[in-house]
Amino acid sequence: MAELTLTRICKSFGALDVIKGIDLEVRSGEFVVFVGPSGCGKSTLLRIIAGLEESTSGKLTIGGKDVTDAEPSKRGIAMVFQSYALYPHMTVAENIGFGLSLARRPKSEIEAKVRAAAETLQLIHLLDRKPKALSGGQRQRVAIGRAIVRDPKVFLFDEPLSNLDASLRAQMRLEIAELHTRLKTTMIYVTHDQVEAMTMADKIVVLNGGRVEQVGSPMELYRKPATPFVAGFIGSPK
Ligand code: ADP
Ligand code: MG
Repeated sequence: MAELTLTRICKSFGALDVIKGIDLEVRSGEFVVFVGPSGCGKSTLLRIIAGLEESTSGKLTIGGKDVTDAEPSKRGIAMVFQSYALYPHMTVAENIGFGLSLARRPKSEIEAKVRAAAETLQLIHLLDRKPKALSGGQRQRVAIGRAIVRDPKVFLFDEPLSNLDASLRAQMRLEIAELHTRLKTTMIYVTHDQVEAMTMADKIVVLNGGRVEQVGSPMELYRKPATPFVAGFIGSPK
């Protein structure tokens, strides 16, 4: 079943056309990677899906429901940013549970969900720490924890690992892949790194200049790149 559909999504900022008519279907449980060069519109597209940015035209459905004009909180989506966006004055536990506190969930429920997320992410021993006492990888786990406790239907990741050094990036890549295996939730992951795309994706969407160049599995893109751009980007033999 399609968890998410984009139909002719367009976005302009003034005279600048950034997203130029994108059609896409994401199946339930799929790990989809949006890949493409800096400035091609990856973040804008993700923000449109999250409801943080309004599309100029087009239609978006999540779980079969038209959410084109729905508020972010009504979409069943959680987004993990590159910058972590943790609150420095709050503990790890408070950071993870913040969205639930805002939604006035009962304290017992918040505690249980924070604990379960912290266990999944190996953060149990750090729950009382403040973000500044954490490593980059630990901070990124807290940001992921904050998304997990909301039980989203779809996770969105916007270049979550680009602030980390190479070895930590490799480790976090595995952890996110494991998380996907465990939760079986639909995930959309944005990166400009072709290695991340090739190793993590069930399906890769190659974006260029606000358009989809090609959609396919890593192997399909590698074996049969549709355009010279895809071949160059994926690193296929000519
Ligand atoms: P990517 O994430 O692929 O690097 P973005 O989606 O951030 O690309 O940006 C795509 C294009 O849209 C860029 O040219 C960027 O400058 C422009 N853009 C993004 N957000 C805005 C905005 N709020 N106002 C004006 N232009 C924007
Ligand atoms: Mg971006």
